[in-house]
Amino acid sequence: MSGVVGNWRVELIEAHRQLFQPPADTPLAAQGSPECDAGWRDLLERMCVRIRAAVQADGGTFKFSQIKEKYGTLRVYWDGGLSPEASAQVEEAIALAEARSACTCELCGEPGRLHGGGWLTTRCAAHAEGRQPITVRAGLENIHVVRHGLGSDARIACRRYDRQKDVFVDVDPASVEIGE
Ligand SMILES: [Zn+2]
Repeated sequence: MSGVVGNWRVELIEAHRQLFQPPADTPLAAQGSPECDAGWRDLLERMCVRIRAAVQADGGTFKFSQIKEKYGTLRVYWDGGLSPEASAQVEEAIALAEARSACTCELCGEPGRLHGGGWLTTRCAAHAEGRQPITVRAGLENIHVVRHGLGSDARIACRRYDRQKDVFVDVDPASVEIGE
């Protein structure tokens, strides 16, 4: 392993060139070159492997347009032409990565929490730099509310992100006492 700081981005882009489509010889000039710290490298790697599987099985096109940290968690944007099924698989891979970023220290990759104090960051206790964790009501940790469909067909699903298994687990919305 090279000790050059910042090299993890080049390695990630080189390992998944078909998703980043970087200009020749300047991988960091790729639109999707990650604008976040090294602690999220592993979750980006997991996401890329999942997206590659979906894109290859589909035969459509895909390219990251932006990968960045915002308000303490990951944001991922992409362009391309995929079947609805493959698009859904890509969106699920992105949702898993974004959920994992919300409980993974952006600096070191250890389990982390959202911290406030001027700006929002996801950090482990060792990298909190004196800022305080944002309090989440007991039972609402890692809960993600997903809206399916539009208008009268819309329904709300509730999922909890299981960091250990890197999966979503369905939760009965009634069991999550939102707004209490
Ligand atoms: Zn840390």
